[in-house]
Amino acid sequence: MRAGPWAATNRPMLALTTTQREAIPDDVVDLCRRLRDNGERGWIVGGCIRDVLLGRPISDWDVATSATPDRVQKIFRKVIPTGIEHGTVTVLHRGTPYEVTTLRGEGAYTDGRRPDQVFFVTDIERDLARRDFTVNAIAYDPLDERLIDPLGGLADLEARSLRAVGDAAERFGEDGLRILRGARFTATLGFDLDPTTEAAFHGAIGVFSKVSRERVRDEWIKTMRAERPSRAFDVMRRTGILDVTLPELVQQYGCEQNKWHAYDVWHHTMAVLDAIVGDATDKLSALLHDIAKPRTRAMSDKTNDYTFYNHERVGADMADAFLREYRFSNDERQQVVHLVRHHLVCYQSSWTDAAVRRFVQRVGREGVDPLLRLAQADALGKGRPVEEELASLEELRGRVASLMAAGAALSTGDLAIDGRDVLARLDGRGGPIVGELLRELLEAVLEDPSLNARDPLLRALDAAVTRRRQGAQEEPKA
Ligand code: ATP
Ligand code: MG
Repeated sequence: MRAGPWAATNRPMLALTTTQREAIPDDVVDLCRRLRDNGERGWIVGGCIRDVLLGRPISDWDVATSATPDRVQKIFRKVIPTGIEHGTVTVLHRGTPYEVTTLRGEGAYTDGRRPDQVFFVTDIERDLARRDFTVNAIAYDPLDERLIDPLGGLADLEARSLRAVGDAAERFGEDGLRILRGARFTATLGFDLDPTTEAAFHGAIGVFSKVSRERVRDEWIKTMRAERPSRAFDVMRRTGILDVTLPELVQQYGCEQNKWHAYDVWHHTMAVLDAIVGDATDKLSALLHDIAKPRTRAMSDKTNDYTFYNHERVGADMADAFLREYRFSNDERQQVVHLVRHHLVCYQSSWTDAAVRRFVQRVGREGVDPLLRLAQADALGKGRPVEEELASLEELRGRVASLMAAGAALSTGDLAIDGRDVLARLDGRGGPIVGELLRELLEAVLEDPSLNARDPLLRALDAAVTRRRQGAQEEPKA
């Protein structure tokens, strides 16, 4: 029998099992007790109770209270007014921060983002009624040890169904982010959308388009933590959310590929997204790696099949523009753009060691691992037998590892001479030529690593400097 608050009668019971109770830290219970000792009430509420009931790991504990923010500030010693206009303060209790929010009802939403006014209410049920989904609208009183579930959240948890609280159209019209949260929960919780709730997504696209880029970005990053992020992107595609955020991805749907692929570009991208092993940056690179395929697709007369010439370069530019617009960090953006740009790893066993070294030099030492993971997922996403392709990537990984272990020079910083040696040969006149000469020497070392010692490099440097001087003299004078 499944663990949960359901007794043999199959009717939700308003109590937690021992295991679920034990998942709640004593400090949170203690925080609620302190509120009660001061004549107030405190309930653990929202996503953390949902996750307790599902047996999922919990990062943040949210508490709803009858106390006004003023009172909370008096009851606890360390309180930070983090969102006081919404009734939220952060209580530092025994070293851990907890968001403590005064029970609230909400006035009208005229801008689709924030309620025009927030008013405090005295009962928890009204507070639960303003939340987004029923499974997020369950409260727990840790002193009475009772669950409060006026909206049927427990039954929806059992059915693994995501249903809006009350009237879905009204809920989504109030805050455009809710439909994106809904899409995200289908992936992170693995729940299905209740059909009436999903139907209401379409009418909320207009309000969704007003949501700030940062809030959308944060939801995307959270989505990437799901085991199968494609579930969320499928909801986004079919309900129109993706048309607002990244229409180029929607154009992948039905975009057929060449004979090596079993799927169209969209289904391939979704398969790669679910297959890739890594963090949010890796998943973003999987999501965006073929973003330019619809735009670059052409029919080749020679092969009578589709080509996607230059899609990795065009795609890198498109990824860059999108990640800038949605305010991803510079670091994240640069990594993703780099991976998209280099995602075609055309390795063959016939590559010389010099070719392998040039590959590492091109993608960077740190780039090799994520790139090979992307290439592996890219292969798996073809929907065809790809054992040979995977074996070939493993071979490349092995060759890179042994070249690195052998201490091969892969960047100008690894050379046995440096910029000072170059400057000395140029009579102290520097500028871009220093870097150019070092790169020229690196080229030679990539080809023949035995050159990477001081004397041979200085000789090669002299030769390069002489060649340049002669080249400059031979240039016709204007
Ligand atoms: P996560 O697993 O990402 O933490 P969560 O459901 O806990 O998901 P939070 O943003 O931590 O989401 O919010 C806590 C609770 O506040 C939610 O469970 C929900 O009850 C309520 N909530 C959050 N955002 C909204 C919103 N946009 N509209 C209505 N209720 C919301
Ligand atoms: Mg939360």
